[in-house]
Amino acid sequence: MASDSTDVNAKVNMMKRIMINSETCTGCGLCEIMCSFHHRKVFSRKLASVEISELMKDGTRKITLHDRDENGHLSCDNCEGLDEPLCVTYCYTKAIVEVKSHEK
Ligand code: SF4
Ligand code: SF4
Repeated sequence: MASDSTDVNAKVNMMKRIMINSETCTGCGLCEIMCSFHHRKVFSRKLASVEISELMKDGTRKITLHDRDENGHLSCDNCEGLDEPLCVTYCYTKAIVEVKSHEK
């Protein structure tokens, strides 16, 4: 079934400022709560544009980036107005990194 959500694993979403490598994600949830703070000035993983799955059988987590408002999650706006996306700033494992425009 088609979806506008972007499930990315070690590939660039060309419309976004960020690149995701889910293999290094620990599931800490910092990116989610800081994303919700960016949008609504609250800490709520349910609102976040980035969604981290539970641990899967292969030991990794799925990272979903929402391109539109859906299921309570708000659309990613690339942290417009910020020098660096908050999910990038707070991801200490570099599972989410910023893509500079010349790298796209
Ligand atoms: S901040 Fe990084 S390590 Fe933590 S859940 Fe988000 S992507 Fe995973
Ligand atoms: S770039 Fe900003 S709005 Fe998009 S997922 Fe990261 S923190 Fe959320």
